Amino acid sequence: MQAHVDKVESGGEREEIRNLTAVAMAMIERTRHLEQEMRRSESEAESLRVSLAKARRDAEHDHLTGLPNRRAFEGLLERHYREAQQELDALSVAFCDIDHFKKINDTHGHDAGDRVLQAVAATLAKITDDNCHVARHGGEEFVMLFRGLGKSAAKEKLDSVREVFSRRKFVNRRTDEPIGTITFSGGVADVFAYPSTRDALKAADVALYSAKEQGRNQIVAA
Ligand code: GH3
Ligand code: MG
Ligand code: MG
Repeated sequence: MQAHVDKVESGGEREEIRNLTAVAMAMIERTRHLEQEMRRSESEAESLRVSLAKARRDAEHDHLTGLPNRRAFEGLLERHYREAQQELDALSVAFCDIDHFKKINDTHGHDAGDRVLQAVAATLAKITDDNCHVARHGGEEFVMLFRGLGKSAAKEKLDSVREVFSRRKFVNRRTDEPIGTITFSGGVADVFAYPSTRDALKAADVALYSAKEQGRNQIVAA
């Protein structure tokens, strides 16, 4: 381009202006093309970001209940464990398991069982906040963490949810048949009373087993 400009300055205007115009047009065209390419890359990057966020959500959430799954819970527990240790906060964990759930499936069908699972999940989710998390551990079992609460306070909190839930009467939406009451049992443990979060979870599971043995529809502290 500089060569054309030099030529214009030295006299051969007309042809060189034509040449310059052609070069300028080619540059404009090239810029337009680059802009289009850039816009396409930006929109591809955006759709990749959206797919990645969805994949991450899917990997960490239970499809049926919408709750975080066990894997997500492990991450949450690890984080709260570290923070609670540093800030000398109490931390407890709990397992909850629906009582005689197999009978609900057998009597009213798997779909009604699924809706019962969703109802329990929604009830437990109501008490969650930044310091209290619930996840579907698998099957009809839920796992929780209570930051800032020792096992007695966590037991009390969970027990009031259990109490209210156990008074609800359920009906099979599809057949209008009464399902009746649905209960769940729970076991709670203080995390820092054990050498690791794994041991604390085990203790909560043993406490849950005691709750089942003692007649279900109750929360037991380890
Ligand atoms: P318990 O009071 O001792 O806990 O008895 P239970 O019947 O609740 O326990 P059990 O382990 O015998 O049965 C659990 C049942 O949960 C068996 C399984 O088919 C059912 N289940 C697990 N996951 C799902 C699910 O996603 N949907 C439905 N509808 N049922 C499920
Ligand atoms: Mg059960
Ligand atoms: Mg179970």
